[in-house]
Amino acid sequence: MDAPFPDRRRAAVCLTYDDALACHRAEVAPALAARGLHGTFFVPAAYGDLHDQVAAWRAVAAAGHELGNHTCFHPCRARDGAAWPDPAYDLRRYSRRRIADELRLADRVLRLVDGRERRAFAATCGHLACGADGAEEDFTDDLRPFTTLVRSGRAGVLPLASPPFVAGSIGCDGRSAAEVIAELEPLLDQDGFALVLTHGVGRGTHSLFMESDEHTRLLDWMAAHRERIWGATVSGVVERLAG
Ligand SMILES: [Zn+2]
Repeated sequence: MDAPFPDRRRAAVCLTYDDALACHRAEVAPALAARGLHGTFFVPAAYGDLHDQVAAWRAVAAAGHELGNHTCFHPCRARDGAAWPDPAYDLRRYSRRRIADELRLADRVLRLVDGRERRAFAATCGHLACGADGAEEDFTDDLRPFTTLVRSGRAGVLPLASPPFVAGSIGCDGRSAAEVIAELEPLLDQDGFALVLTHGVGRGTHSLFMESDEHTRLLDWMAAHRERIWGATVSGVVERLAG
């Protein structure tokens, strides 16, 4: 296979950040750009920061990053007795029609911000089924008309082939740069790509987070290897692999 990525690169890493945090638009996106990297920011379309800071989020997209679909209200399948999510946003109580409508509305809201017609989707809490336990209905197919790739679950380096519609990621929350880099290192001499998932960057940004200095180390490692590894958006990689 010819090198699928720009500048004859045969490896890619998609850095992805979930939940539309202020630090994503204010600090992470500029830190990526300063190193020649682009990332995908999964933005729940009902979250306040998107609406309060829409110009800033539009600027993130205009700088070449991706605004990914992450539903409107971030519904998840609640565990019995758990305080979160609010019962109104428990996927066990969602009908297929309701989640399909929410997924499409989320895409439409983001389209008003960035003008793009297709984008990646990150499954909230990794969940892709609605309805009561024992009667779950998978809603992955509802995403296909407007979605390039669904990020759900865990995976390491993925092969350079026609990308799967649903792919897992390498998690950064609570981990050191060295641990994450150890999972990415095969890309230094193998063809492939990987999705990397982070919520907060720095203590206090999210209950799940990577320490700021560890995150900086990861970005510096990416920058040091950018002749080999393309640091790109999820949809950028999918579009290249789809050819
Ligand atoms: Zn999330």
